[in-house]
Amino acid sequence: MNKVRYIFVTGGVASSLGKGVSIASIGALLEAREFKVTIQKMDPYINVDPGTMSPFQHGEVYVTEDGAETDLDLGYYERFTSARLSRENSVSTGQIYYSVIQRERRGEYLGRTVQVIPHITNEIKNRILTLKKTNPDVDFILVEIGGTVGDIESVPFLEAIRQFRLDAGTENTMFIHLTLVPSITVAGEIKTKPTQHSVKELLKQGIQPDLLICRAANLLEPDVKEKISLFCNVKKERVISAPDIESSIYEIPVIYHNEGLDNEIIRYFRLEERSPLFFEIMNPTLAKWENLVSTLKHPRGRVRIALIGKYMQLSDAYRSLYEALQHGGLANYLHVEMDKIDSETITEENVGEILKDAQGILVPGGFGERGVSGKLAAIRYARENKIPYFGICLGMQTAVIEFARNVAGLKMANSTEFDSDTEHPVISLMEEQVSITDKGGTMRLGAYPCVLKPGSLIEEAYQKSEIYERHRHRYEFTNRYRNQLEASGLVISGTSPDGELVETIELPRHTHPWFVAVQYHPEFKSKPLDPHPLFIKFIEKSAQVRR
Ligand code: GLN
Repeated sequence: MNKVRYIFVTGGVASSLGKGVSIASIGALLEAREFKVTIQKMDPYINVDPGTMSPFQHGEVYVTEDGAETDLDLGYYERFTSARLSRENSVSTGQIYYSVIQRERRGEYLGRTVQVIPHITNEIKNRILTLKKTNPDVDFILVEIGGTVGDIESVPFLEAIRQFRLDAGTENTMFIHLTLVPSITVAGEIKTKPTQHSVKELLKQGIQPDLLICRAANLLEPDVKEKISLFCNVKKERVISAPDIESSIYEIPVIYHNEGLDNEIIRYFRLEERSPLFFEIMNPTLAKWENLVSTLKHPRGRVRIALIGKYMQLSDAYRSLYEALQHGGLANYLHVEMDKIDSETITEENVGEILKDAQGILVPGGFGERGVSGKLAAIRYARENKIPYFGICLGMQTAVIEFARNVAGLKMANSTEFDSDTEHPVISLMEEQVSITDKGGTMRLGAYPCVLKPGSLIEEAYQKSEIYERHRHRYEFTNRYRNQLEASGLVISGTSPDGELVETIELPRHTHPWFVAVQYHPEFKSKPLDPHPLFIKFIEKSAQVRR
C-alpha cells in the first residue's frame, strides 16, 4: 500500500476564518505537485449530519456522489481538488457517538466501562484509517477539525489527532493551525497575542503546531512573522500569511504557494526528491489557477442573473450555486452579477419591476410552501418575456406547476408538498417516499443516471446523452400528467434510464431562447477549472439578452 501522510488542520481565535477553503487550497497545491489527496471533515456537533439542519443554522447541505448529506466545506474540497468524496469524508460527533453506543448495545465492549478515552477517540482515529482503506492510492489525507480550538466539543477530536501522531509517527503527520492576526485599526498595529493564546490552548491538548497559517488584512511583515515564530515555537518559514483576498477565494492556492506553503509541506515530509522545491510559478496546474484569477479580475463583460429563493440573505445557503454561476461566468469570460431576491417579496404585480434588468432568471432548490407564489410569478415572467430560465430541483417543480397552471390550463395545479389535497398534483411525493417517517438521510440522495433526449437544449449543453447528477428531493413530476403537459408544449428532455422518472424539462427552442429545468443539483459538480455545462450554457444564453 502507498505510504500515506496526514495533515491535520485546526482553527484558532475565531470561527469563520475559512478553514475549509484553506485546506482545500492545500489540497489543490499538493495535486498541482502531482500528489493524490483526499480530505476529511470532522464536525464537532451532535447532529449525525447537517441534512436535518436549517440553512439558517448551517448553510448549504452538500450532497456527495454516494448520497451523503454533508457540510458545505466538502463542496470546497471537491471544487478545489479532484478528490472524490463520499460518506466517509464527513464525520460528526453525532456519528461517532452513534456507532460507539450501537456497539455498546451489542455487547461488543465485553462489560467494560465505555469512555471518551479510549472508545470515542479510537472511533475517531478509525474514521481516519477507514479513509485510508477506501482510498488506497492517496499520498495525503487532509483532515479538517471543525470548530475553534478551546471549544468544549472539539476536545475529543484534538485528543484523537494527538494520539494519531503517536501511532503514525511525527514524520508522517503534520499539524497546521489556522489563526487570526488582527490589526487594531486605531493604532494600525498588528496583534499577535490571540495567535499566541490559541497555540497555548492547542499545547494544553498536547499539540504543537508545525505550521501556522495566519489570516490577516495584509501579508505579514517579516518582523511579525519572527515574533509569531518565537512565541509559538514554529519556524519562521512556516508562518504563512493568508491575507484578505481581493476578488475571489480561487486566488488562495496561488497566494499560499507564493508564501512558500507547499514547499514547506514538502520539506516537512522530506519529499524533495519526489517533488523538487520551486520558487516561481512554473507548474502547469498552478498556471491554470493563475489564469482563472486573472479572468476573474479582468472579465470581458458582465451578466446580470436574478436568483429567486428563500434563504437569499444568507451567503452560505446556496454556496455551491453561487460558485457554479461564477464558474459559468469564467467559461464565458464574464463577471456574473447575482441579484439575490427573496421570493417572498415578489408578487404578480411587482414582478416586472423587480426583474426588469435580469438577463437570466434562476430558481434554486428549496423546501416548503413559503415564497412559492413569488417563484411562480418569476418563472411566468421568464417564460413570457423570453428571459433564459434555469430551474434547479424545486425550481423545476415550480416550473412544472407554472406551466400546468398558465399554459396547460390546469388552474389548480400544485405540488402535494404545498397542498396535499390539490386537484391537480403535477408534482407529488415519490412512491419510495410514501412510507418513510424518519427525516434524516431519507430523501432520494446522490448520483443517478439520466438519459437525455436527442436534439434537446440540455443534450446540446452536455454534448452527451447520458449523464450522472446528484439529487436531494422527496417529490417528483407526476407521470399521469406527462401526456397532457407534453401536448401543451412542455418538453420532457431527460428521464431515468427506465423512463419512469422525469429528471429534466424544457421549452421548445422555437418558443423560448433557453428554458431548462432539472430535478437534480448540477451545482454540486461544477468546478472552477471544470465549469458545469449547464451553467456555461445558461450564462452564455443570458449574456445574449439585451436589457
Ligand atoms: N422540496 C422539494 C422536494 O423535496 C425540492 C427539494 C430541493 O429543491 N432540494 O422534492
